[in-house]
Amino acid sequence: MSASEGRVTPDNIEEALGRWLRSPGEKDRVFPKGKKVEVVFLVEAVNALLLRTEGVEDITLFKLPGTEYEVPAILPEKLQAVSRRRMLAYLRRFRDNDPGKLAVHLKALAEVCTYEKKSGGQSSGVKVGFAKAEETKEKPAEWNCYVQPPGGDARNATDVGMDGFCPACALFGAVIDGEKLKGLGNESIGLKSRVEFDPAVAFLDQEKTVVGYTHNKVADGVSWTGQGLYMEHHVAPGTVFAGKVTLEDVTPAELKAFLATLSAIDRLGGRERLFGGVRVHLVAVRGGSYETVSALGIAKKLAERYGGAEYPPGVEEVKRAVVEELGEGFKEVDGEKFRKLVDADETWDSLWRDTVDYDRQVVERVMGLLGKTCR
Ligand SMILES: [Zn+2]
Repeated sequence: MSASEGRVTPDNIEEALGRWLRSPGEKDRVFPKGKKVEVVFLVEAVNALLLRTEGVEDITLFKLPGTEYEVPAILPEKLQAVSRRRMLAYLRRFRDNDPGKLAVHLKALAEVCTYEKKSGGQSSGVKVGFAKAEETKEKPAEWNCYVQPPGGDARNATDVGMDGFCPACALFGAVIDGEKLKGLGNESIGLKSRVEFDPAVAFLDQEKTVVGYTHNKVADGVSWTGQGLYMEHHVAPGTVFAGKVTLEDVTPAELKAFLATLSAIDRLGGRERLFGGVRVHLVAVRGGSYETVSALGIAKKLAERYGGAEYPPGVEEVKRAVVEELGEGFKEVDGEKFRKLVDADETWDSLWRDTVDYDRQVVERVMGLLGKTCR
């Protein structure tokens, strides 16, 4: 990877990734073409992180293959959920900044198409459109899409709050049933996620990256020495994780909004108001028809470089090392420029435009499969 190529910015990303992006006007966007964009990034813990899978004292640890190290990791579902929630937060802000702009998109989704239904020699038109878009098209300030916290059984991912059509649903996936899409009947369709995270993996042994904190449960007025003390394991501040995410069949607007979201993530892990401050550093992108690197592979290379070092390397040094290790085809990214996109309404407006187009194609395709011709 050569530095002279110049870094990828929001202005030149279409040129940089060219044919590996889908065009917004394409008529068969709903059919995958296996156009992949690999994004390599680093997650830097700027505070102690609480990364637990279950139980109080557990922390997600990996045995880094080919090394003697056991390293902390951030599970892909965590990264997926955090990015989705972040994107939804920005979409709500876009809604509040200019409800009129959002209304245009909601109107388009409230009535996607009409098909003819014949019964007893009579023919009538059945409207197909998204329920929540219909409800909110005249009062866009009330549009919302959210991820419901899971109830008793965390495996029952619940989608009651999801609208099934917004940019986050279209990118991260959703289940659309007759409740969400009027005119669909009893069918239920799954919108596949086009975002796939690797687990983000640290490259230094837990001896250097995990710390036990003893907390004192503070009671008002009285205290009992030795009681109410408990221990939690955290990822130490300064720990750097190698991350990779692959986006499939995305448009330039979708990629820009996603990179803006990813680079702006600043909280992660359990009890995130107290712990969990992070910074995400975008490193490089590559377009192609198959994946060439993994976060695990990158972490292994970093472990070989830094595993024996007396002091952990700073994030800028790690970034340079990753750039050196990455193969042909990767282009360095200017993360700061993408982070700034989160505050531009145009980022979210164009994202909505491409999403409406995508949703319309999904609906027409599904109706076609059900033998109903959309008009
Ligand atoms: Zn949604």
